[in-house]
Amino acid sequence: MSKFIFITGGVVSSLGKGIAAASIGKLLEARGLKTTIIKCDPYLNVDPGTMNPYQHGEVYVTDDGAETDLDLGHYERFTNAHITKDCNITTGKVYHTVITRERRGDYLGKTVQIIPHITDEIKRCIKKVSKEKDVDVTIVEIGGTVGDIESLPFLEAIRQMRWELGESYALDIHVTLLPYIKSAGEQKTKPTQHSVGRLREIGIAPDILLCRTEKHISKEERDKIALFCNVDREAVIEAPDVKYIYEVPLSFRKGNLDDLILKKLHLKSEENDLKDWESLVINRLRNPQKEVTVCVVGKYIALQDAYKSIYEALVHGGIAGNARVHIVKIDSEDVKNNTVERLLGGARGILIPGGFGDRGIEGKIRAVQYAREKNIPFFGICLGMQVACIEFARSVCGLKDANSTEFNKETAHPVISLLQEQRHIRNLGASMRLGSYPCKLLKDSKSSHAYKKENITERHRHRYEFNNDYRKQFEKAGMVFTGINAGQDLVEIIELSSHPWFVACQFHPEFKSKPDRAHPLFREFVKASLENSKKD
Ligand code: GLN
Repeated sequence: MSKFIFITGGVVSSLGKGIAAASIGKLLEARGLKTTIIKCDPYLNVDPGTMNPYQHGEVYVTDDGAETDLDLGHYERFTNAHITKDCNITTGKVYHTVITRERRGDYLGKTVQIIPHITDEIKRCIKKVSKEKDVDVTIVEIGGTVGDIESLPFLEAIRQMRWELGESYALDIHVTLLPYIKSAGEQKTKPTQHSVGRLREIGIAPDILLCRTEKHISKEERDKIALFCNVDREAVIEAPDVKYIYEVPLSFRKGNLDDLILKKLHLKSEENDLKDWESLVINRLRNPQKEVTVCVVGKYIALQDAYKSIYEALVHGGIAGNARVHIVKIDSEDVKNNTVERLLGGARGILIPGGFGDRGIEGKIRAVQYAREKNIPFFGICLGMQVACIEFARSVCGLKDANSTEFNKETAHPVISLLQEQRHIRNLGASMRLGSYPCKLLKDSKSSHAYKKENITERHRHRYEFNNDYRKQFEKAGMVFTGINAGQDLVEIIELSSHPWFVACQFHPEFKSKPDRAHPLFREFVKASLENSKKD
């Protein structure tokens, strides 16, 4: 039977609970244990698929087609856990199930209540994942900050689980902040004491505190935190700010977090094996031999989290190429004829990520044209592929009005349009083409050289597709369709053979990239950009 680690957060949001959960997963895997990670999100949306990136950041897509929280991306990047739709439990999902059951009459005669019906459903969802995945340890991250009204049912559920399982089967880890007050020159422990106090009021006494700090924790501070928060001294773990998120498992290891977890959960394990990860961090991340500048042209540039997996995958491409990738973020609304040279002149590679809606579209099209005409390596992803097709239609095929029907329903040349099956959809939640689909690669293409195989599967999240009516015309003008979904005859990858590296795909390769296994297309894009910077 699986053991459980419950992770809560206190004081402020954005403490990196997701990265902490992923890093704990990594540490336990490095000790030979099989883990899975679950994220509980207290909002009422069933999933984040219908939320704006400004509300939520990136929507991460799993193989089985779930639109989920971006923390699940960290879980997959750090560990080998296979993350599926059940690994993201939202209040919306839980209520949806309970209310559906109520309407069916499953609770006939009873008053349906948060306790026990909602909390039981949360526990059922958590246990289902751990059972199905047959793991040694299930890590459960509770979103939000202790003290929020909306996370209370989740906290009550994990309180009950801990009570039911007993202490050698479940562990509570609280991620907290020790703010440093410059004028006083002091690190403050009071917010942590209050946060732990709030947790204890609802019956949760954390076993381990992960203290986010800018400075080292002194012996006195450690003693004070341990005494007032009722934890062992060795359970006050320092979680300092790090330059690269992939350093976090190493920093936790330094604080003996894995030993502590194993001891508390009575788990036997192998010697720690983090050597490869450590060498990746020290040699490839901190001290790479080369560097290259890549521009990402998107609409949600101001927001750190909107293109999380894209930025991470570029870092992974850099690790593979022994290079530091400087990512310059360009707002597509700023790209115009009279600004393009100034904004993109320094780019050695240009990437256009996915997106929805017409804001900033013309700027993206202009950026594609710049990359195509100036022979700058270009990587288009999802909407990035669609705008590459629009640009090609307009500039090369002479179809002046070409567009996607997403942006202009009346266009004379709908080179990107809806599939028949998408035309009558009214419910916008979870109704896109989602999750993993197969794709066959054309021999001797840049893509097949990158993947080194013929058949691949990649994750999707879009409604619109390349319109096959235009395939012949595009081919004649020099576009090569190098990846095709054979079953549905859908265009998955396009390339320009006359260009040093112009590749765009309808799927989202960024979701499958890892620091120690860069996605082949990101690896090759960074390589081509490095090649391009040789002329500097
Ligand atoms: N808006 C486009 C579509 O729905 C692209 C989506 C995306 O880039 N994820 O097809």
